[in-house]
Amino acid sequence: MAADYDVIVIGAGPGGYVAAIRCAQLGLKTACVDDWIGDDGRPALGGTCLNVGCIPSKVLLESSELYARARQDLGRHGIRLGEVGLDLDAMMARKRGVVGELTRGVEQLFRANGVDWIQGRGRLHAGRTVAVEPRDGGAAQRLQADNVILAPGSSPSDIAQVPLDGERIVDSTGALAFSAVPERLGIIGAGVIGLELGSVWKRLGAAEVVLLEAQDSFLPVVDEQVAAQARRVFAQQGLDIRLQTRVTACSTANGDVEVHYQGQDGEYRARFDRLIVAVGRRPNTAGLADADASLLLDEWGFIHVDEQCRTNLPGVYAIGDAVRGPMLAHKGSEEGVMAAELIAGGSAHVDYACIPSVIYTLPEIAWVGETEQALRAAGRDFRSGTFPFAASGRARALGDTDGFIKVLADAASDRILGVHMIGPDCAELIAQAVVAMQLGASAEDIGLIMFAHPSLSEAFHEAALAVHGRALHKVERRRD
Ligand code: FAD
Ligand code: NAD
Repeated sequence: MAADYDVIVIGAGPGGYVAAIRCAQLGLKTACVDDWIGDDGRPALGGTCLNVGCIPSKVLLESSELYARARQDLGRHGIRLGEVGLDLDAMMARKRGVVGELTRGVEQLFRANGVDWIQGRGRLHAGRTVAVEPRDGGAAQRLQADNVILAPGSSPSDIAQVPLDGERIVDSTGALAFSAVPERLGIIGAGVIGLELGSVWKRLGAAEVVLLEAQDSFLPVVDEQVAAQARRVFAQQGLDIRLQTRVTACSTANGDVEVHYQGQDGEYRARFDRLIVAVGRRPNTAGLADADASLLLDEWGFIHVDEQCRTNLPGVYAIGDAVRGPMLAHKGSEEGVMAAELIAGGSAHVDYACIPSVIYTLPEIAWVGETEQALRAAGRDFRSGTFPFAASGRARALGDTDGFIKVLADAASDRILGVHMIGPDCAELIAQAVVAMQLGASAEDIGLIMFAHPSLSEAFHEAALAVHGRALHKVERRRD
């Protein structure tokens, strides 16, 4: 019997929708099954990223930064404003507007490329049959595909001691939609979401933002020098980050959330108006595959895949947050393209050593490749060059001089092994480092390239020169 589709993709987040578009571009008959329901109660494409993740969080980070700058920074530039006010409803409406534009944009891309959008919950059965339960609860539709790409994404993890109530105690989705600025905000988890959303509400006027973090080090995946500077700057901004804390109980009474936690030297109690739980995310794999399909999951529920995202089942691929590797939208999208190319008979791979990461705080934190502590632990012989934004003319003109760029290069070959940044516009600057690393550049190569003056990019140039003690705009001890 002929299959209904060449490819069925389950999940329309940045992994799944990109995979579906690329499959269709390659001439494959493609359907994408997704069960997301948007704020307006209607099905919406784009998954976590577009609806309650990357996009709405960046909209609020941008709006809150403008608000904070208007209140605190513009005077330094000689700009006098009248009273600066906050219209949170308008800010939230703008956020919804941007989300709607982008999710409808994916709908248009599906139409233009001929991808069938099937609304409902998909379940994989043996032999690449996908059963789709429609949203209205009618009979499940069974579709046969030659290939299946599983892209079900992830959901916020929870902790037993802190049950969410959807109002005072919320996850990241709830924290993107508070109807008023909390006076006292507690956040469990000082990871990426805690820092980004903590920054949003602090800038919008929260008097107190306390982050309770279980680990004994701050941002352990980030280069240690960057993490240390970030912690200093965040403390100046009023983010109260408490490490080595364990929440033991949580209750709500008289409108307050009371959190009991064990700190480094005893038991503590803290009261908040709102509490955000941001302790990581788990893969959406419960119920994704029927037992008869025999899909292999690992002990944490991630779908087991090889380097090219093949599962244990022939013709079945899995991508994005539901498989190993960092939970990042661009990583899922590149895996989606790879799966599509492989299905179409092409060759493709993802370079997992070259995935950029960004934390969209102010200053921004961005990195690619190995950290200095990882190189040291591995006994690698490397050289390091740093350049501070305080010595950059463009950063001074902006008034954003916190931070630096660090380039790490192999001591023998000079090949760049990692680049770490904290400072203005690092989300954009890191792309230069990714291109350099992907093309196998050495620190010397970057030192020989001309960068526009005055620009923040010059800091990358100077950090690469600094690897050999040759930075021009800071005092150097010559090394070769
Ligand atoms: P998802 O985006 O989670 O999409 C999966 C889709 O599949 C969803 O629509 C889901 O409803 C659907 N689905 C699941 N199971 C089924 C099923 N059985 N049948 C039908 N449909 C199903 N990443 C970045 O790179 N940059 C950022 O700035 C960033 N910011 C973030 C901010 C926040 C607050 C959060 C929560 C996340 C952020 N992320 C960011 C992470 C990013 O959102 C995820 O890495 C990304 O969305 C994962 O893509 P995905 O396609 O794997 O899954
Ligand atoms: P995270 O892993 O970045 O941080 C979670 C933090 O919570 C960790 O520091 C962890 O030690 C801590 N934690 C765990 N259990 C705890 C407990 N019981 N008490 C106190 N602290 C505890 O996860 P996240 O911030 O929830 O973000 C989830 C995912 O979403 C991340 O993997 C991230 O990649 C992705 N994301 C990316 C971006 C971005 O790219 N800018 C933004 C937001 C989210």
